[in-house]
Amino acid sequence: MENPQAVYLDFNATTPVDQHVLEIMLPYFTEHFANAASTTHFPGRAAAAAVDFARKQVSMLVGCESEELVFTSGATESINLAIKGAAVILQNKGKHIISWTTEHPAVLEVLSKLSRLGFEITLLPVDRQGHADLDLYKSALRRDTILTCMMLANNETGVIQPVKEFATVARENNSLFFCDATQAAGKIRVDINDLGVDMMCISAHKMYGPKGTGALFVRRKNPRVYLDALIDGGGHEKGLRSGTLNVPGIVGFGAAAKIAKERYWDDSSRLSHLRSLLEQQLTDNGLGYVNGDIRNRLPNTTNICFPGIQASRIISALPFLSVATGSACSSALPRPSHVLKAMGLTDAEAYSSIRFSLGRPTTELEITQVVEGILKWINSNNK
Ligand SMILES: *Cc1c(COP(=O)(O)O)cnc(C)c1O
Repeated sequence: MENPQAVYLDFNATTPVDQHVLEIMLPYFTEHFANAASTTHFPGRAAAAAVDFARKQVSMLVGCESEELVFTSGATESINLAIKGAAVILQNKGKHIISWTTEHPAVLEVLSKLSRLGFEITLLPVDRQGHADLDLYKSALRRDTILTCMMLANNETGVIQPVKEFATVARENNSLFFCDATQAAGKIRVDINDLGVDMMCISAHKMYGPKGTGALFVRRKNPRVYLDALIDGGGHEKGLRSGTLNVPGIVGFGAAAKIAKERYWDDSSRLSHLRSLLEQQLTDNGLGYVNGDIRNRLPNTTNICFPGIQASRIISALPFLSVATGSACSSALPRPSHVLKAMGLTDAEAYSSIRFSLGRPTTELEITQVVEGILKWINSNNK
């Protein structure tokens, strides 16, 4: 392989906007530019109708009522709104919040800020497979536990948590349950009624929609969830998120959600097949092994440890390949992945691990190129 074409295998960090999604968005930057809150004129009402339509499309992807969705600037904002918003409302009932060590930094950083503000945070461990333990959770729950935060699928390993079992226990304890489904939505079936969660966040740019647009599901009945807004102003989004709506982004989010619902099953079977090809060839020879539970995980993700080899050396030797080591958000800092460390890997094992995340554009040829490139480099440098 002389000069391999660039191969992007970092779709868990972000995805390209689907061409069809882009086409649907474009008129909302120009002809249909009106403010969705300008209900005094027709263009404003047309923009509001486009937002309503998108809200319906996103709600259908996750199985909630469209009135239960708040549009935000992305999952990070949704996480902030859910956790801080619930903490403010419920602080007189209790100040205890439970989560896990493998959560996304957006969740962990919000919780650490709350702990500085007087909330008590319990961060539970996971096992080597990346799974949370239900009994540990049951014994951590208290009368003053107001909230539990658990991701559905991990962004680094793809490991899927049995959220439904934990949410059921939280409900019996009369406390709220927030789920970060950012990585799961569009890749596996995500149904709010089945999961039984009270709040859940998703993001458009992880499912071939635009960056800067996300949503928070906030349950309206059994129980109705009340949140304190982070951003106050004109009262948009039922007062939960003021500010002129990002109409093109929201319209694109709706279109991306519709496409994701239609094709996630086909995408998943194709990508899990390609992932097996990648994984088998990189692990069968004993060069590497997969981190985390290989049964309950996203179809597009694999996190492989190459013992004794620095992942950063592989990555710099193969500049055509775009992959991740730690989580993308912290990859500027040379710290070992907090997720892999939480699963019990040593620093050395974490530094030897690479996350490959496949996406709709990924081809078998690309997988072959990547496998050849990595095996060739390892064989000539480490044997
Ligand atoms: C990407 C990601 C986020 C942050 O989403 P943004 O929309 O980029 O803010 C949060 N949680 C998980 C699990 C993610 O993968």
